[in-house]
Amino acid sequence: MLIRITLVVLTLMLGRTGLAETLLVSSQDEFEDAVGGLQPGDVIMLANGEWRDFEILFTGFGMPGQPIRLTAETKGGAIITGQSNLRMAGGHLVVSGLVFRDGYTPTNTVISFRRTRGDLAHHSRVTETVIDRFNNPERHETEHWVMMYGKHNRFDHNHLVGKSTVGVTMAVRLDSEESQENYHRIDHNYFGPRPTLGSNGGETLRIGTSHHSRSNSFTVVENNYFDRCNGEHEVISNKSGGNKFRGNLFFESRGTLTMRHGNGTVVENNVFLGNRVDHTGGIRIINADQVVRNNYMHGLTGHRFGGALVVMNGVPNSPLNRYDPVDNALIENNSIIDSDHIELGAGSDEERSATPTNSLFRSNLVHNEDGRNIVTVHDGVGGIEFQGNVQNKVEEPALTKGFVNTSLELAAAANGLLYPVDEQFSDVGASRDIEVLERESTGVPWYPKPGPKTSFDTGETITIGPGEDTLFDVVEGAGGGDIIALEPGEYMVTKIIVVDRPLTVRAAPGTASIEFERTALFEIADGGSLKLGGLRISGRAAPDMSGNSVVRTNRYSMLNNYALVVEDSTIQDLNINHSFNFFTIAKHTFADRIEISNSIFRNITGQVLTLTQETDDLGIYNGEYISITGSRFQNIEGAVADIYRGGTDESTFGPHFELRASSLDSVGNGFRNKSAASVRLLGVQATDIFDNVFANSRPVRVIHTVGDPVTRLGGNRFEETPEPIIHEFIRP
Ligand code: CA
Repeated sequence: MLIRITLVVLTLMLGRTGLAETLLVSSQDEFEDAVGGLQPGDVIMLANGEWRDFEILFTGFGMPGQPIRLTAETKGGAIITGQSNLRMAGGHLVVSGLVFRDGYTPTNTVISFRRTRGDLAHHSRVTETVIDRFNNPERHETEHWVMMYGKHNRFDHNHLVGKSTVGVTMAVRLDSEESQENYHRIDHNYFGPRPTLGSNGGETLRIGTSHHSRSNSFTVVENNYFDRCNGEHEVISNKSGGNKFRGNLFFESRGTLTMRHGNGTVVENNVFLGNRVDHTGGIRIINADQVVRNNYMHGLTGHRFGGALVVMNGVPNSPLNRYDPVDNALIENNSIIDSDHIELGAGSDEERSATPTNSLFRSNLVHNEDGRNIVTVHDGVGGIEFQGNVQNKVEEPALTKGFVNTSLELAAAANGLLYPVDEQFSDVGASRDIEVLERESTGVPWYPKPGPKTSFDTGETITIGPGEDTLFDVVEGAGGGDIIALEPGEYMVTKIIVVDRPLTVRAAPGTASIEFERTALFEIADGGSLKLGGLRISGRAAPDMSGNSVVRTNRYSMLNNYALVVEDSTIQDLNINHSFNFFTIAKHTFADRIEISNSIFRNITGQVLTLTQETDDLGIYNGEYISITGSRFQNIEGAVADIYRGGTDESTFGPHFELRASSLDSVGNGFRNKSAASVRLLGVQATDIFDNVFANSRPVRVIHTVGDPVTRLGGNRFEETPEPIIHEFIRP
């Protein structure tokens, strides 16, 4: 290492030989020394190993064909950890081969194409770089991973996975003239899974902001793979003019490519594969002169603003941050197959009253096997001309003019996509030569792409016998996905069992009873998920104090979403003192799902499920899917479910709530029950309450606050219980 240091120092002292040099540096001081003297063609290499708390400032001016490079000794060998980031400024700079993980940025950005507001990078490139879960531990501390400024920059073959904090993963900024009409290129990146955020600010890629949305960006986004990018309803938020999105693949991503602001953008040759995952969407069109051509959409279930193809209504003389009307849109040769919603004039209301004008909808293919109509017309579509579109034997089509409605057989072509067999329709829908981007052709080959999420019951089964802390002891050694099977008998737990991986605790055949002596039996920590099956849990041995829980989350913010599943279990006698909950959560935690089925809950002085920790009305909430089926609740002083999603933005899909085939007897009557309900749902977007019996209980209260909430009730019986109360659009 000494030799290398000497080389660097000598080089700096003796001046330049005129030849491009490769400088291997092993410390932050060496890096700083070396970076000051870089000449066009030079390469600065970070030695392999961990670089902790390293705020990299990479500046200089290379020349066309002779950039200055920053790379790792071997690709992926230099790991940047701790409080670290990268700023670059100057011209003709290339960064490659770095990995950011096990840390987070102390500023608001991990990789920034600028040093300061006035000192930007141009003609520069970041390639083959990895950002892997480089998240601030505080979920709602806004941060970004990549901010592109300047002009003529390229971001390609990078791997960005697991952003779980609020803030867009990557943005192109147009906040000064130096960054507008930028001709950036964003290509061949792997945008890996981004979990549901439960708030606005979960976009994967944004180009521009509403402030500068009437400027052109001229950014090309091509051949990128968007893998399960689920942060919020905009996978991509295009907020500037003159951009091109082509050849990208959207795999099971919940949300749409949204042409939110700016005119004259082209979206073509993209493939959207939803596999019928909830809320998978396609393209949402707003503004003037947009072209949406030759895109292939399959298995997209999204509705409303999240549909497969959405043409919005606009606001006359719209302010910058609202909706410019659709004018002169060209929507042609798109294939929309096995998808649920095409929405025209979406968002039509008193404010969004301007219908699309001068637009052409031509040669599109709409195909569903079951003959149902998927087109919803929300307002006048006289400003859209329909020509030569084909749909598959739709029984009650919303549109007939400009559509051939016929029986249409599809077959897979060489690229694996479906096309009409009948030759006469060969010009309808997407072209046969559209390329389906391979996941492996994006990102870097030397860093693994994530597989399916670890889930319950995928590991080994460990059987234990009854006694004191046998359960506590076994959890420590259990792996993710393991099942702990409890032989019949009595289990006493004297310490809180912290679960930081997916874990199942279930009874082996027979009755396994659990009591616990601490304020909680289980604590779900970051990374954990818990499934309970066939257990009998009593609160009898808990401390004689208020505020105990059977399960709680970590008391602080959690980056990882969790799941909680309870089946075939009996939870009882949570009544040693007041406010004894089944489940207690902390602020800034998020459940992907909570499911209770075939279980009994009785004699509880607190609540069963309370997801009400986000009360700032910022559009944040605590859980996506909450479901209770086939269960009995008896003598519960608090609510069975209390869910709160405040705020008025329309960026999220949830929460979703289901209560089915269950009975509630004497629920919600405790004087501490602030919800004054047996079930209270505020701002929930999808509610199904069917086939339940409510007796001697407080009413169900549903408060609609935002979006197009769908609340369905049926087959319920109310005995000595008021009918459900539904409040329409009361701002909390
Ligand atoms: Ca958004």
